[in-house]
Amino acid sequence: MIQKILIANRGEIAVRIIRACRNLGLQSVAIYSKEDANSLHVQLADQRICIGEGPARNSYLNKNHIITAALNVGADAIHPGFGFLSENADFARLCQDNGLIFIGPSPEVIDQMGNKSQARQTMTAAGVPIVPGSPSHVRHLEDAKALLPDIGFPIMIKASSGGGGKGMRIARNALEFEDQFTIAQSESINAFADDAMYLEKYIEDPKHIEIQIMADQYGQVVALGERDCSVQRNHQKLIEESPSPAIDDRLREQLNQAALAAARAVQYVNAGTIEFIMDKSGDFYFMEMNTRIQVEHGVTEMVTGTDLIAEQIRIADGQHLSFKQEDIQLRGHAIECRINAEIPAKNFMPSPGPVNHLHLPAGNGVRVDTALYSGYQIPSEYDSMIAKVIVHAPDREAAIQKMKSALGEMVILGVETNLDFQYSIMQNPDFKAGDITTSFIEHFLSLKAGGKL
Ligand code: ADP
Ligand code: ADP
Ligand code: MG
Repeated sequence: MIQKILIANRGEIAVRIIRACRNLGLQSVAIYSKEDANSLHVQLADQRICIGEGPARNSYLNKNHIITAALNVGADAIHPGFGFLSENADFARLCQDNGLIFIGPSPEVIDQMGNKSQARQTMTAAGVPIVPGSPSHVRHLEDAKALLPDIGFPIMIKASSGGGGKGMRIARNALEFEDQFTIAQSESINAFADDAMYLEKYIEDPKHIEIQIMADQYGQVVALGERDCSVQRNHQKLIEESPSPAIDDRLREQLNQAALAAARAVQYVNAGTIEFIMDKSGDFYFMEMNTRIQVEHGVTEMVTGTDLIAEQIRIADGQHLSFKQEDIQLRGHAIECRINAEIPAKNFMPSPGPVNHLHLPAGNGVRVDTALYSGYQIPSEYDSMIAKVIVHAPDREAAIQKMKSALGEMVILGVETNLDFQYSIMQNPDFKAGDITTSFIEHFLSLKAGGKL
């Protein structure tokens, strides 16, 4: 039985997990870097351990320090959150070897799905459509060039180990390809210490649609519907919603079935997300699987009435899923805006610093996941996402209205944020019409730059 959980993360997701532990009557242990000594997650947890210097490689990515900390406090399990070690098969294995439960899938499954190029092969074998592209990974420019005639331009060059929109480049012709491949590959080496790349046909103006799944250790797999994450900048999500304005019941059923097939193909256990890309004709293709809880899990929780983090913990504890497929209905509409400490007018440059004053919105169907408090100092060391504002309303129009109300009320003084930028998207006619693809932000920014907004 799990009684004590160490949370191998920081910021709002660490706070979210600590709260889930408390709701389940479990003990929580925070780890933190020296930089994070005054962070909210450190204050909220039942126990806390400093595990190293500020840079993530010395703290939140230091596997041995984290395992030692967990053993020292007598933790039964480790929740990795998202980012950091959440998709690191070696870490999951290290947990296992030390008698600790890793709250996530097995290291074998992380290996199979976490490597994006290999996942394409797994999915093909499971009969799930993938984006046309290279049959496996490539490490050399010449080998990559040999594949070009088969795929055809435009092409998306991607890092096999990629994530967070890094190591990803578009090439529209052979000349661009050489440059972009080299750039993407060096990005990948720097960010993921891996030179393995793969190629995909670049799909113009697609939608990003993903399916949340939950699976227990007894072969029960449930699909919890879709999230539309098409509002992106630099391949990174800014706004997510469920249900998608572009998906009807028939398409939802097809997507759910494809996601279930994908999960069953690898005997998946715990929370996972299958990401699909959908073209203009409504055809969809597997893009990648995230073998962890996702930043935007809150919108699914709001429309399905579930607690996905609590469910992750129960599954890891060997319990059966607390719901069945027929229990899952998408009720109403939920939207999430990611709030970042950044300056939109300066190309979204990060804006760390002190939070001198904070006012958070609240009310019926308004949820704010954050680790901010008045007097907190946002460090420059980590991701700039500082809050997630999530609203739930009977329909999309009401949800947009509620988001405007929530964002309008929210006050963060001391640092610059993208609050106004998010508010202006809520007022955009295309967004309001649900007429959005992954190029939405690019168009939106060029309208702004042209003074048309
Ligand atoms: P997600 O939808 O969870 O952001 P992505 O695949 O878009 O998933 O993100 C890629 C990686 O970047 C993930 O490992 C995710 O955890 C990490 N990431 C994204 N935003 C943050 C954040 N604010 N803090 C830490 N890691 C983040
Ligand atoms: P990451 O691991 O960084 O999340 P993904 O493979 O999920 O990488 O891609 C991130 C985003 O890039 C997608 O959400 C989508 O908007 C865009 N993208 C990825 N592959 C393609 C493609 N083949 N064609 C067009 N856009 C793509
Ligand atoms: Mg992705």
